[in-house]
Amino acid sequence: MDLIPSFSVDHRAIVPGIFTSRVDTVENGTVTTYDVRLMRPNIEPVVDVAAMHSLEHIIATYLRNDPDWKDEVIYWGPMGCLTGFYLILKGNRPSREIYDLLLRAFRSVETCQSVPGATAKNCGYYRMHNLDMAKWYAARFADHLAANADKPETFEYPKTERLVTEDGQHFYDS
Ligand SMILES: [Zn+2]
Repeated sequence: MDLIPSFSVDHRAIVPGIFTSRVDTVENGTVTTYDVRLMRPNIEPVVDVAAMHSLEHIIATYLRNDPDWKDEVIYWGPMGCLTGFYLILKGNRPSREIYDLLLRAFRSVETCQSVPGATAKNCGYYRMHNLDMAKWYAARFADHLAANADKPETFEYPKTERLVTEDGQHFYDS
């Protein structure tokens, strides 16, 4: 049975943080999709698209090489709205339990010498990277997480009723 959340996120109230977006049961257990939100939607500018692309490469590489977590990672990728990323992990941990992992991952960007896989052979648009700006966004997010780790709004979504479209479809953004 799929566990489909009946709420959707109130994007007017969301602040940067780590949230459980959805939990799904699969053949051998549970997978959880986390919303790793870097920017306040519709209030702050979105992440620069080249920096977003670099963060995608750097953090995917970090997560998939971390000895304690690599076997748990299913997916890491950017949101279409460019305000954050989705992380899909095996299991059903509260988002607080991946705080340390994500803080380390975003802090690791600071010491990156180059973007992994930024070549024509390994990437769909290898010219579209910006390591310096990726470092700026990563430091900003890591500082925010560290300063707000004791606040519930860093880990809990502001919720609202799920939107139903005029022709009766339930709206999802992922
Ligand atoms: Zn790429």
